[in-house]
Amino acid sequence: MQQWSRFKKRYPDCVLLFRMGDFYETFDDDAVTVSKALGLTLTQRTAGVPMAGVPFHQLDTYLRRLVAQGYRVAVGEQLQDASLAKGVVPRAVTRVVTPGMVVDDALLDSDAARTLGCAIVHETERGDMAFLAVIDLSTGSFRITDMRAASLVDEMSRAGVCELLYPEPIVSRGVKAGGAKPHKEIERALRALSIAGTPRPGWHFRQDESREALLSHYGVKTLAGFGLRDADPVVGPAGAILRYIKETQTLSEEDTRGLENAPGVHLARVTLGHLRPPTRVQSERFCVVDAVTLRSLEIERTMRAGAGVSIGGPGSDRSLVGCFLGGTGEKSCCRTPMGRRLLAQWLVTPLRDVAAIEARQRVVACLVEDRELAERLGEELGPIQDVARIAGRLSLGRSSPRDVVGLARSLVHAPAIADLLDAPPTRGLRDRLAKAAGATEGWAKHVVEACVESPPAHLREGGLFVDGFDAELDECRLLERDAGSWLSAYQARLIEEHDLPSLKVGYNRVFGYYIELPQAQARSAPAALTRTQTLKNVERFTTPELREFEQKVTSARSRGLERERVLLAAVCDEALSRLEAVLDYAEAVAELDALGAYAEKAYRKGWVRPEVVPEAVLDIEQGRHPVLDDVLGTSFVPNDALLGGHASGGMTDPSLALITGPNMAGKSTFIRQTALLALLALTGSFVPAKRATVGVIDRIFTRIGADDALHAGQSTFMVEMIETANILNYATPRSLVVLDEIGRGTSTLDGLSLAWAIAEHLAGSGDAPGPRTLFATHYHELTDLEERLKGRVRNLHVLVREWPPGDPHAQIVFLHRIMPGKTDQSYGVHVARLAGVPTGVIERAREVLGSLAVHHGPMADAEAGTRPEGSRPEQSSRWRATAVATTPDREEAGQMSLFTRYVSHPVVDELREVKIDSLTPLRAFDLLREIVGRVHADESSSGSEPKD
Ligand code: ADP
Ligand code: MG
Repeated sequence: MQQWSRFKKRYPDCVLLFRMGDFYETFDDDAVTVSKALGLTLTQRTAGVPMAGVPFHQLDTYLRRLVAQGYRVAVGEQLQDASLAKGVVPRAVTRVVTPGMVVDDALLDSDAARTLGCAIVHETERGDMAFLAVIDLSTGSFRITDMRAASLVDEMSRAGVCELLYPEPIVSRGVKAGGAKPHKEIERALRALSIAGTPRPGWHFRQDESREALLSHYGVKTLAGFGLRDADPVVGPAGAILRYIKETQTLSEEDTRGLENAPGVHLARVTLGHLRPPTRVQSERFCVVDAVTLRSLEIERTMRAGAGVSIGGPGSDRSLVGCFLGGTGEKSCCRTPMGRRLLAQWLVTPLRDVAAIEARQRVVACLVEDRELAERLGEELGPIQDVARIAGRLSLGRSSPRDVVGLARSLVHAPAIADLLDAPPTRGLRDRLAKAAGATEGWAKHVVEACVESPPAHLREGGLFVDGFDAELDECRLLERDAGSWLSAYQARLIEEHDLPSLKVGYNRVFGYYIELPQAQARSAPAALTRTQTLKNVERFTTPELREFEQKVTSARSRGLERERVLLAAVCDEALSRLEAVLDYAEAVAELDALGAYAEKAYRKGWVRPEVVPEAVLDIEQGRHPVLDDVLGTSFVPNDALLGGHASGGMTDPSLALITGPNMAGKSTFIRQTALLALLALTGSFVPAKRATVGVIDRIFTRIGADDALHAGQSTFMVEMIETANILNYATPRSLVVLDEIGRGTSTLDGLSLAWAIAEHLAGSGDAPGPRTLFATHYHELTDLEERLKGRVRNLHVLVREWPPGDPHAQIVFLHRIMPGKTDQSYGVHVARLAGVPTGVIERAREVLGSLAVHHGPMADAEAGTRPEGSRPEQSSRWRATAVATTPDREEAGQMSLFTRYVSHPVVDELREVKIDSLTPLRAFDLLREIVGRVHADESSSGSEPKD
């Protein structure tokens, strides 16, 4: 238990799984925790010490469940074969598994990166700046970046950070330990992403400490090669994250002292060589896609699917990523897990560099045109395993024989793939693959030849290397295999020598080799046989010769196993010495696969190559929604979009498009589709359109109105306004802004006024052009802006047909076609009927609509922004549902009369029903009290209009 307490002290915040024989045991509080979390039986070790254990071969399953529930788990292993240990079996914590440090295949989602982040926040004169280092331990990618602290959440969510390290808050006097909080931005990020936070000692983040950690790990003299100045603040978190990984993934010296040469000790070689040098993410090279945009454009998952859905998994099929990766096997456009992860990453980090985008396009074009090449490449890529993650496990000393063979089999494809890539656009990839092939081919061939067809998952029983590969191994195996024939020969000899026809020589696992005689003959057993065991009908014997043979066979077996282990270790070492090339190969394959996926999609669906230009233009002809188009097929109606850029005659095209139209007409679809096409184009993909010109974008902003159905009611008006404020403050003439039903979250008047002012702001003024903006709204009053802001705003509307035309009871038909000009009707009543609202209600709504239309004041008369104070109608939100008709006093106040006041309440209806003459005074009083009570209750439950 001393070892246990030592580990527990070292990893106080972890659940400690402590290997004892065939179980991983937990003790004390851990046992209570684990038994609850995993539903295990709680027992006692010695009186009063709770204990719970899991069988060793189920470690992965239980680890996954514990980590998924947010626990940090330290795994204490036995380092030595228990039978060879003198005294207590030496143990060590071989790894710590936390949400950000999962590397085992069984615990990982192959399509999504799962990373560990480490951040600090500095308060500077430019405002709070965040410095972030992110490592994907499973593949070794290591990225560093700095940004405004407000963008930390977005950056972390894009990078797939599942756990964040941060400097332990300094506990000043007077504050209880644990009372100080991390920096507020860090706290905000932890909360927003609901991920685990891990405080680390402040000195780990010190510049000199961190610099030292980086220099020594990468064996370099200066950080300049990584594009880092010594004084760069990001060095702090970069060093701290490296230190954390070393600390948790390598064996502590204290645990392994003096064990190097002990018998039966196999210390895994952990090099962490797969950790690539940190690369700086230069945000100015990418188009920023923040978390709100990711969600509202449904890039990684659909909004309905919620955050729990994994990328590429079920429920994500209708997302943009899912439209490439959805389905398995043939349906998916990617062939390898590395390609899938890279594609998902590309789709959230569009580029700003035209040349880089075009370089990708050229490869895609080449593969779209040369289908034979694309198909042959697909065949070559198909069998390639997750090389990046295998390399990671190798370097963490945690690879299995299957990993090693899988790696070798994946690498032998390299020359064949390189040979296929002869076309000019693919030569860059070819050279990278050829270089990797050069460094690994020999090793890979050697391993493929040396290992069996279906390698074992572990080496406990051996059986990895083929016969004839190693003489010593062959000799051991021969001895073992020949045992059978030796034994039968020996049996024959004994029978003849002693004239005992029923004598048998046998073997079992517990007693080993034995000679067996039936009871009757046992009595006349010759003295040469030594009795060892008496069973019911038989007696067992042995001889010195048999013992000697047994010794030889068992030692041959363990010698063989040991030999296989040594051979495997050598193979791994050789792979490790080529790790750099292996990782390069993984990267090149991922790129080729992702580009192949773009080509595949383009070919299957007839997507076209967009023209990408530096100007702030967005011009799409006959664009289709990449996901809906798949779902609806030919019934999807393509639409054009044109924002900014130079129209004919030197005039600049309006950069703001205002889209009006009834509910369900296709406004949201159109604006999302346009944004998605722009985004796709900037990742190098082709797009579903007849023709497209996309100017680079520095950032895509989106805001989807609070109670849009798509938003599943998770938002409030406050969130809507925060997000809008963000857009208004940060959008530049290079940005793309997508606003859907802005202002819906508040009263109509407020909403309309805000929407109006926001649209005006985004339309730009004077010489300052606004961002390219798609503005869908149900406030058709806004269409007046086209006239008022000539050349800056263009009205678009979605075409709807009434049938029969002009009939008040007409059915409406949605044509989903976007046309220039405005709508002046919202057809809400028609939509309600389509939705099955009862006829009575529909009829009443028509009446009300009729009376409203009479009073409807033209928006142009009311100067936007100069409306009187206190214009929020005083009805509560719940009562608005029963609103009817307008009242004259509102009009006198100069307000737009479409803002109506309720004159009806369920209580009023009830009052109408009351027969006052037939009520007793007592009953009347009761009724009055009840009604007053209900009115108050209604007020308090609906009086919660956002005041913040
Ligand atoms: P709105 O935002 O105007 O209320 P949506 O964009 O949500 O309308 O579209 C409503 C429905 O209409 C979508 O779910 C889709 O099924 C259909 N739709 C939208 N655009 C198209 C289109 N271009 N072609 C075919 N169907 C469409
Ligand atoms: Mg909509």
